[in-house]
Amino acid sequence: VPKLDSILQEYIKNHVVKHVKKFDSGTHFDRALVKTAVSLGLFEKFFPNSPNGQDGLRALSTTIEEVSKYCGNTRNFFLVSCAMFGKTIERCRSKSNYLDSVFNEIKNGEAIGSVAYTELEGSSNPKSFNTHLSNLGEGSLILNGNKTWITFAGIADYFLVACLYDGELVFVVVPSSAEGIKITLLDSLAGNRGSALAEITFNQVTVKNSQLLPIICIESGWPTFERIFSVGRVCAASSAIGLTKACIEMCFDRLNSRHSLGKKLIENQIWQQELAKNGSQLRAVEAIRNVALNYLDEDRFDFINSDCTVAKNLGAEIAILSSQLNVKAHGAYGYLENEDPNRLMREALSFEFIEGSSLVLNKKIFTQLAGKLLLNRKSR
Ligand SMILES: Cc1cc2nc3c(=O)[nH]c(=O)nc-3n(C[C@H](O)[C@H](O)[C@H](O)COP(=O)(O)OP(=O)(O)OC[C@H]3O[C@@H](n4cnc5c(N)ncnc54)[C@H](O)[C@@H]3O)c2cc1C
Repeated sequence: VPKLDSILQEYIKNHVVKHVKKFDSGTHFDRALVKTAVSLGLFEKFFPNSPNGQDGLRALSTTIEEVSKYCGNTRNFFLVSCAMFGKTIERCRSKSNYLDSVFNEIKNGEAIGSVAYTELEGSSNPKSFNTHLSNLGEGSLILNGNKTWITFAGIADYFLVACLYDGELVFVVVPSSAEGIKITLLDSLAGNRGSALAEITFNQVTVKNSQLLPIICIESGWPTFERIFSVGRVCAASSAIGLTKACIEMCFDRLNSRHSLGKKLIENQIWQQELAKNGSQLRAVEAIRNVALNYLDEDRFDFINSDCTVAKNLGAEIAILSSQLNVKAHGAYGYLENEDPNRLMREALSFEFIEGSSLVLNKKIFTQLAGKLLLNRKSR
C-alpha cells in the first residue's frame, strides 16, 4: 500500500503545480484534479471506513498542509468538499438512503460539496439568518433565502446549507441542480480565484426530510455546527501551517541568494531575528493544531473547548505575518501580482475570515478562558 507522503509528492509535483497560475488568473477549478486524487488512492486515505472516520481526518490534515504550500485553490477542494462536507455526511450516512448516496458520490470523487453558512446580513449570528425551511406537511419542506462568499458554490454538486427551521439552526443537503436555485459567481477576489466563490439564492426550493442532517431530530443543530466548524478550523490551521512553511522557505532562499553591501542578506542579524520569530510561532501553531486533532479524534466536541479555534486564529496570524515577511524579502519583485510571494500573501489574508472571522472567534476563546479563571477563583 503506497504511503500518503509518496502519493502526495506525486500528486503535487505532477498534477497540482501546473494549475497554480491558471487558477490564480481567475479560471475555475479543474475537476480532473479530483479524478487524479481518486486514482492515486488519496480518497481511500480520507474515507477509510474506520470507526467515526478519525484516521481520514489526519490524512486530510496532512494533505491540506502539503497542498497549501503550492495551491490555495486545490487546498480549498480538500478543506471544503472532503473535510467539512464529506466528513460531516460520512457521520450521518446511515440515517437516510439519500445521505448515504451523497456520501458515496463524494467518496468516489464523482461529486463536489460546498458548505453554505455566511449571509450578507447576519453572517456571524445564525439567529439573524434569513435562510429558512418551512414545513409543507407530508415530509416536504421549502427552502428560501440566500448565502454569500461560498467556496466552490459555482461548481459544487451539493450544498450543505445552514438555515433556520422552527427557530432552530439546522443543516440540509441540497443538490445544486434543484429547481429554484440561482448561483452568481463572485469575481475580483484578491486570492483563491479558482475556488468559484459564489452567491446562492434559494427560491421555493423543495426539500425532503431525508435531506436534513439527523442531529436536529434530537434537539438542536449546535453539535453538528460544532463538529463541522471544528473540523474546518483545524484544517484551516493545517493550511496556514503549510502556507507559512512555504513562505519561510521561499524567504530563506531569497535572503541566502541576494547580496547587498558586500554580504548575503541572510547574514544580517535583523533577518535572522525575523525568521527565528516566524519559525518559533510556526512551531507553537503546529503544537496546538496537533492538540486540536487529538480532541477531534476523541470525538469530544462541545461549545466550551476552544482548541480548534485557537489553532485557526494563531494559524491565520502566522500565515499573514510570514507571507508579508516573504514579500518584504523579495523587495520590489514581491510586489508583482502574478508571482508566488504576492499570491501567497493574498491567499494568507483569507485565513482572517474563513471558518469564522478571527475577531468573532475570540468570543469563543474568551468563554473558555473566563470559565477557567472563574473556576480557579472558586477553588482558591
Ligand atoms: C476566501 C473566502 C472564502 C469563504 N468561504 C466561505 C464558505 O465556503 N462558506 C461560508 O459560509 N462562508 C465563506 N466565507 C465567508 C466568511 O466566513 C465570512 O467572510 C466571515 O465569516 C466574516 O463575515 P463577513 O465577511 O460578513 O464580515 P462582517 O460580519 O461584515 O464583519 C466585518 C469585520 O467585523 C468583525 N466583526 C463582525 N462581528 C463582530 C463582533 N460581533 N465583534 C467584533 N468584531 C466583529 C469581523 O471579524 C470582520 O473583521 C468565505 C470568505 C472568504 C473571504
